[in-house]
Amino acid sequence: MALLSIVLPAYNEEQNIAITADRLSSLLEQNNIDYELVFISDGSSDNTFEQIVNAAAENPRIKGAEFSRNFGKEAGIFAGLELTEGDAVIVMDCDLQHPPEVIPEMWRLWRNGAEVVEGIKIGRGREGLLHKAFAGLFYKIMSAFIKMDMNSSSDYKLLDRKVVRVLLELPERNTFFRALTFWAGFRTESVYYEVQERQYGRSKWSFVSLMKYAITNATSFSTLPLQAVTIMGFVSIFFSFILAVQTLVKYCSGTAVEGFTTVILLILIIGGFLMISLGIIGHYIGRIYEEVKGRPRYIISRTTENVPEAVKGVWKKRQGTNIERKT
Ligand code: UDP
Ligand code: MG
Repeated sequence: MALLSIVLPAYNEEQNIAITADRLSSLLEQNNIDYELVFISDGSSDNTFEQIVNAAAENPRIKGAEFSRNFGKEAGIFAGLELTEGDAVIVMDCDLQHPPEVIPEMWRLWRNGAEVVEGIKIGRGREGLLHKAFAGLFYKIMSAFIKMDMNSSSDYKLLDRKVVRVLLELPERNTFFRALTFWAGFRTESVYYEVQERQYGRSKWSFVSLMKYAITNATSFSTLPLQAVTIMGFVSIFFSFILAVQTLVKYCSGTAVEGFTTVILLILIIGGFLMISLGIIGHYIGRIYEEVKGRPRYIISRTTENVPEAVKGVWKKRQGTNIERKT
């Protein structure tokens, strides 16, 4: 019988773990799906990991790990994927905003041969106006950059084991899970869902963190901003050519170009272009620097007891430390 793994990154979600685990296990049992739940606590400062341990003690199909600090949702997803053993893997939020009811449909599509099942949002839930506008703009730009329709896509997806293997073998540290499945290709189907209200706690995103997320992801998926530097260069050369002609004509006809205004404007414009260009290039160099250091994506500090030795071995090798605490 095929096994379905569900990866649930959790950051300070102590109130949601037990509820989510119950909802998912009863739903999957009703539908006769063989499953395992993988919770990754992303360096939570509350009792999220203790809740995961409790859930695992009640239900051996539940396992999990804790990060040594907050590494972000992307890292949580990848650590979770590493831990899964299923033939198909679903990634979803553990705050029940991704409705579990579509899981049987995803599963059915997978059984019928889909290798990736994308969860597509209809409506964006009750997000703030600013958040909504910003998210909309972000996805428009992203879609244009990576030439794939990213609008309404989410981290709620089902992946075949093949696809999981491909993603886990990617060498980069800075990942963007949502777009990587588009990039990877494979036979893709979609399911549609309405974003639900958050059960407990609040969203972990601030405007600043969203902004950072947008810039990091846009640049990790595209070198278009670098080409923009070249375009800016051409634009300024074009204008300087016109100005040069004008200056020469005026010089020859005996009238001088209007003095300081032109000079000041030119310095300001070119200075602005140069600084933006340096900033863009600097940003890419920063990203290269981060990748070159080759640090692990995340550090595991604790795991539940039922985590397989093989996975522990992979983690140990990658982070160079023993993940088991000797007491
Ligand atoms: N999350 C995480 N690490 C973080 C932030 C969030 O693992 O640094 C998890 C969080 O626990 C939740 C999911 O990512 O399961 C989505 O986060 P959240 O609900 O805060 O985002 P939103 O639904 O508002 O986009
Ligand atoms: Mg949420």
